[in-house]
Order: sequence, then structure tokens, then C-alpha cells
Amino acid sequence: MKIMSNTQGSPCATARDAKPHVRFTGLSAGYPGRPVLHQLDADIPALAITALVGPNGSGKSTLLGVLAGVIQPTAGELRRAGNRPPAFVPQRGAVGDALPLTVRQTVEMGRWAERGPWRRLTRQDRATVDTAMERLGITDLATRQLGELSGGQRQRALIAQGLAQESDLLLLDEPTTGLDPEARERISALLTELVADGVTVVQATHDLEAAHSADACLLLRNGHLAGQGSPEQLLTASTLARIWQPA
Ligand code: ADP
Repeated sequence: MKIMSNTQGSPCATARDAKPHVRFTGLSAGYPGRPVLHQLDADIPALAITALVGPNGSGKSTLLGVLAGVIQPTAGELRRAGNRPPAFVPQRGAVGDALPLTVRQTVEMGRWAERGPWRRLTRQDRATVDTAMERLGITDLATRQLGELSGGQRQRALIAQGLAQESDLLLLDEPTTGLDPEARERISALLTELVADGVTVVQATHDLEAAHSADACLLLRNGHLAGQGSPEQLLTASTLARIWQPA
């Protein structure tokens, strides 16, 4: 991996002051024959919520995939402070409705990285799964099939699966899209609690309310970093208009 320099989207002082959980420099990534992210320099502050904001196709999910370790960078460098594998909660739509899984089985899959899929869960694993379901308020749904649930319930099951991984880096792709205000509020409060418990959270979001309540934002446009800093600094009407205007 080659280390490249980039002057675009120069980091703001506030984001750099906090000790980063992840720092990437000259980061480029994409899919075979389809470069998407172009030489990004940015920090993900530790013990904070960072929102990835940008129009559809700007590269938010791709960046989450790189942070999750499922997409390899084609250039640049990525450094991370933590040593546990990141927990990745994909977009709800990316998870098959027809999978014959109960809510509990779905959450138990969060233990597979540690335990392997074929090994019996230990008492400690089961306690971790119970706690994750309680935190998401889905204990009563444990025996229900994932495909029978409402969008908000299924989203909570997927987030519980992420929590069950007990990582110090939780990555979420559009966790509140399509949810009613109460469900959005519940997830937002949970993310704040997780940060207090020692987790660094990164969420890709279209929800500007969620982005405003984050501690830091990275703005993406056409795979380039268009800005980073606090929501107050970045989410101004003029910046958003610039980000969302056609390329
Ligand atoms: P966002 O999350 O901001 O909507 P994505 O990271 O999903 O953006 O997509 C960025 C670009 O990468 C888009 O042009 C999209 O079409 C393309 N892309 C996403 N996934 C793939 C894939 N598996 N193969 C090829 N191109 C992809």
C-alpha cells in the first residue's frame, strides 16, 4: 500500500485535537474497475460519534467497508488504535428478509467472530446476547422470525448483533433511515450511551438530525472528502447546498 499525500478537505483543529481511534492518510479504495474513494485524509475521533454525510453514491458505504476491513484500500494508509475486530451493522435492506432466522439467532451471530459458527455458545456468550437484546428492547421478540418484523424492529436486531460483538469500534450504515421519530430517538440515545461505555461509533447517515447530534462529521462528495469537523461548523446551509449540488 502506497502512502499518498492530499491537501483536500484539510483537517480542522477540533477533530485533530482529540486522540483519533482511526486515522487515514491518502486513502483510496473502490471495486474492481470502479475507483470510488480518492485520497482521503481524515481522523475518526476516539470515544465519539462520527457521522459520514454525503449524497447517494458519494462513497459512505464504501468507506464503512474499508473501516470494517471488508474492502481493501488501493492506496494510502489506515491506522487504528483498537485491537478488536470492528462491528459492522449493514443497511437493513442489505439483509435478506427471507432468511429463516429468529431474532435471537441473528443476535447470536454477533458472537461468531469470537466463537466460530459451529461452536456452542458459552454461558458468557449467552449473557452478552441477552444484554445486547435488552439494550435494544427486543428481548420479547427473541423467538420471532426476522422476516416478520417491522423495519424498526429488524434494525434493532441488527444493532444488537453489532453490540454482541463487543467491539470498541461500531460501524453503522444508515441505522435510522426509514424509522419513525421515536425509533430514531431511541437509537440515537443508545449510540450516546455506547460512547460513554468506551465505544467509538461511525454512522453513515442521510438523517441530518442524526448528523447534527454527532460529535464529528466527515462530508463526502463524489468519493472526495469535502470537509471534516463539528456538525456546527460543517452542516451549514451553504455547505450542504454545495455538497448536494450536481457534480
Ligand atoms: P453511498 O453509501 O454514499 O451511497 P456507496 O459507497 O454505496 O455510496 O457507492 C459509491 C459508488 O460505488 C457508487 O457509484 C456505487 O454505484 C459504487 N458501488 C457500490 N458498491 C459497488 C460494488 N459492489 N461494485 C461496484 N461499484 C459499487
